[in-house]
Amino acid sequence: MYDYDLLVVGSANADLVIDVERRPGAGETVLGGDLAVHPGGKGANQAVAAARLGARTALLARVGDDAHGRLLLDSQRAAGVDTAGVLVGGAPTGVALITVDPSGDNSIVVSPGANGRLTPADVQNADRLLRSSRVVSAQLEIPLETVVAVAASLEPGSLFVLNPSPPRPLPAVLLAACDTLIVNEHEAKVILGEERLGGAPEDWARTLLARGPKSVVVTLGSEGALVATAEGVARIASVMVDAVDTTGAGDSFTAALAWKLGTGSSLAEAAAYAARVGAVAVTRRGAQESFPTADEVEALAS
Ligand code: ATP
Repeated sequence: MYDYDLLVVGSANADLVIDVERRPGAGETVLGGDLAVHPGGKGANQAVAAARLGARTALLARVGDDAHGRLLLDSQRAAGVDTAGVLVGGAPTGVALITVDPSGDNSIVVSPGANGRLTPADVQNADRLLRSSRVVSAQLEIPLETVVAVAASLEPGSLFVLNPSPPRPLPAVLLAACDTLIVNEHEAKVILGEERLGGAPEDWARTLLARGPKSVVVTLGSEGALVATAEGVARIASVMVDAVDTTGAGDSFTAALAWKLGTGSSLAEAAAYAARVGAVAVTRRGAQESFPTADEVEALAS
């Protein structure tokens, strides 16, 4: 009945990465290693993660009419994502300029570029995509009013999954539209508006749930995750792996969970599967490069 298992509405960035001995201070120039250019952005990452697992996936995003935009379109298509909803032009492709020092600490400057020009009107024009998608997911690297427009355009029967990253206080109407809100600790703190949130993650999950989403997932890195519904809060164990790079763990977890919810899995089942996906992703370097296929998830020992 649906053409797509998952429609991701979100950002697409080129990540420009340079290794440096020392990150530069004000007014300083340092020499670094060779430039590496990777496709990234939370929307693009989540679409690739879902498609690689086998989900019929579409992306609604905006890139510039430039080389970075073409890189992003190519990486989406290579993963099997339908890019008919990717709009081109209006501003340069979003870019993240990343310097990484030998200890792994980084400094990042983001130019949202075309991501900042994905408008509520673009969402309205994509009503065919919205109508044909079982699950719609969004993050916050595009304008908040665009995400609110997505929530307002959902078809009855479709599911809405929001990963509010980077976090900011959210309007009640957006929280109420969420079938599932997925946050990490930092995001939970910002959304709840408490700099020093007391209590355990279970308490954050309950407090978030009271703000309107039908369910809440709190990801806890190597500690796994929590799932919360009106029936209660349950812990989802992580899979023990040797982590080498956690970049993209949250994006692959979110994509996997959103897809599985649409196939009829319970929230706990979907989160357990997503934890396996995240666990494989952290055993490999990079973001999109690290996302597993369904066979690779299957092969992961529990
Ligand atoms: P990021 O912003 O770094 O992509 P995040 O903070 O949004 O990530 P995490 O909580 O770090 O999200 O990771 C998402 C999920 O991936 C976790 O809930 C867990 O299931 C899995 N995961 C992350 N790190 C590890 C790890 N070291 N070992 C096993 N599983 C992990």
